[in-house]
Amino acid sequence: MFVLTVTVVGAVLHHDAGTAGAAGPADGHAVPVGAERSTDPDRPAPSLVHRVETDDPVVFVTIDDGNHASKEALDIVREHDMPVSLFLNEGPVALHGSYFDEYIALGNHVHSHTLTHAQLTTLDADRQEREICGMVDVLDERYGSTDHVGDLFRAPYGASDATTKKAARRCGLGAIVHWTAVAENGEVAYAAGTGFKPGDIVLAHFTDSLPQDLRAIRQLAADAGLTIARLEDYL
Ligand SMILES: [Zn+2]
Repeated sequence: MFVLTVTVVGAVLHHDAGTAGAAGPADGHAVPVGAERSTDPDRPAPSLVHRVETDDPVVFVTIDDGNHASKEALDIVREHDMPVSLFLNEGPVALHGSYFDEYIALGNHVHSHTLTHAQLTTLDADRQEREICGMVDVLDERYGSTDHVGDLFRAPYGASDATTKKAARRCGLGAIVHWTAVAENGEVAYAAGTGFKPGDIVLAHFTDSLPQDLRAIRQLAADAGLTIARLEDYL
């Protein structure tokens, strides 16, 4: 019923093995979600996480940007109690901030995806910090009282560099989250292989196809014997 498209998303997957944050919840990494972020300059720079290293039969769903406030997508998340992690930009939060309140009320977290969806690798350190940490400030201002502003970061276009890690560290972020699968237009494309594997991180967007995308993810995860877990419980 769902067409399976196999596409190589990235030529090489870097698993960042050996760095804190890429492992499961038992590695003692990072600030618990909801806890105060540490801006201690001596703490290690956030790791770049492509997938969660776990043997648990789980995959993770992330939804980016926030441009289209799909009620149907929210209904699916609510109906199935589906954990999702939101990586948001400033414009959508200003436009329909109350829409994301609904996700938070269901136990989900919101994270920085920069203020303006900037291509960070073209920016100097100060401007990267403004984009990354400025969005943390926007989220703190709007949602801080809910304790569901998380300490993860996703770089627009997946484009980050060493400067990005240092900038993210300065506002206390714990990991830069990449992905191993992309859901769009009701189909899922995998970075490697032909189906979900434990620890996969799926990238979706707030578009008008999000309801189909969420249904496809659910179906394909179930086909692989996997359930959708909460990323913040693992990173
Ligand atoms: Zn984005």
